[in-house]
Amino acid sequence: MKDDRTISAEVPDATPVGESLVFMRHPGHRLRSGSAIVERAALATTPSMAQTGSASSEQGTHEEPDLPNQFTGPSFQTKRERFRFDGHKMMYHLDRVLAWQRGERFAPIHIDMGLTKFCNTACIYCYAVVQNMSRGTMIQRDPLLRFIDDCGRLGVRSIGFIGDGEPTLNPAVYDAAVLARQRGVDTSMATNGLKLDMDRAHEILRDMTWIRFNLSAGTPEGFQKIHQSKADNFFLLLDKIRSLVALRKQEGYSCTLGLQMVLIPENFDQILPEAQLGAELGVDYLVIKQCSDSEYKELGVDYRRYAQAELDLEQAEALSTSDYVVQVKWNKIKAASDTTLYQGGVRKYDVCMGTPFLSQLSGNGEVYPCGPFYGKKRFLIGNIHDQSYHDIVMGDRYWQVHEDIRTSVNVHKDCAIGCRQDYLNKFLWDLKNPPEHVNFI
Ligand code: SF4
Repeated sequence: MKDDRTISAEVPDATPVGESLVFMRHPGHRLRSGSAIVERAALATTPSMAQTGSASSEQGTHEEPDLPNQFTGPSFQTKRERFRFDGHKMMYHLDRVLAWQRGERFAPIHIDMGLTKFCNTACIYCYAVVQNMSRGTMIQRDPLLRFIDDCGRLGVRSIGFIGDGEPTLNPAVYDAAVLARQRGVDTSMATNGLKLDMDRAHEILRDMTWIRFNLSAGTPEGFQKIHQSKADNFFLLLDKIRSLVALRKQEGYSCTLGLQMVLIPENFDQILPEAQLGAELGVDYLVIKQCSDSEYKELGVDYRRYAQAELDLEQAEALSTSDYVVQVKWNKIKAASDTTLYQGGVRKYDVCMGTPFLSQLSGNGEVYPCGPFYGKKRFLIGNIHDQSYHDIVMGDRYWQVHEDIRTSVNVHKDCAIGCRQDYLNKFLWDLKNPPEHVNFI
């Protein structure tokens, strides 16, 4: 007689179970119905996977290959997403996050710094033009090199020569990059490229991680209008970029070379010419971003107008190939279709906690917790001309100012939309304000 306490699972004979699974190299998984095994190893090497985002690159078209869902958090196997233009990379620096949670003093992971307070162009979208940067000061060579040395000692992981004036107008930029490489600190630069010293091209290609050219036009006429510079300079810049691309290839340097276009209604007609130009120059990418306004809206950016450019932006992205990425920062470009709450400046978090992780220096050597507060005495921490950066970071004033930011700045009212630390703040806010049941990961 059948024992009713025995439950029959009725597993089909073909199902790989028990020992048979152990001997299969990539067993994958099999549904109970007995359908075919998914071969994961084969999936990872199919041509469509290797070329994700660049399918039909020869024709310049942009078909998404048929793939399983690739999203596993903000990390991608797709070549097109390899630069992570938007978002943050805090999960790769958990040692600093832990130090922060323990209340220790620690060095920033990254520093954005100006090297000068002046520029040789006057781009019509530039915040610096509002600040009248046609002349100004710069960080002197010795304090700059001492600062780089200190960054190495402190364990700063990267420095971007970005913000304030044009970095190549400071002749010490090249030695700073070389020294930083020796001290184990990555560097990068955003430049208009016109004064780039090609005699130092080998060193910057060897020692910088990436160089981004601020170019917001694809024709000489557009260049004249947007950058308020001579049309000849357009060709000068293209020559320099071409030479760098060729030199990099010849010497096998790994420095990434890219273009950044700041989009405003005045250069909507330049989107496609510039996307085509980037491909022709042989750079690695073109990123197209919105124009950031100041907290007082001095540039008068009207985000609603970006909707008119969407078709051209999509066509520009379709020019991506496996070696050339065109990417639009849709998140910000589409800000007008976001909630009125967001447009009104209301953020996901209530407190700014990101400044100790990403510090900023003005082109005159002054240290601030964040760029939008350059020049505000209350938030001035020190100056690398007067004091070693190591002592600044380990000193009381540095941490008092970060605490002042954390406790007194109203991020919904005092800050411009999408500042540099915005993504870090979102991450840190989530960390500090966990949801229910975090152990159920
Ligand atoms: S949230 Fe405000 S205080 Fe914090 S970094 Fe951004 S602009 Fe500065």
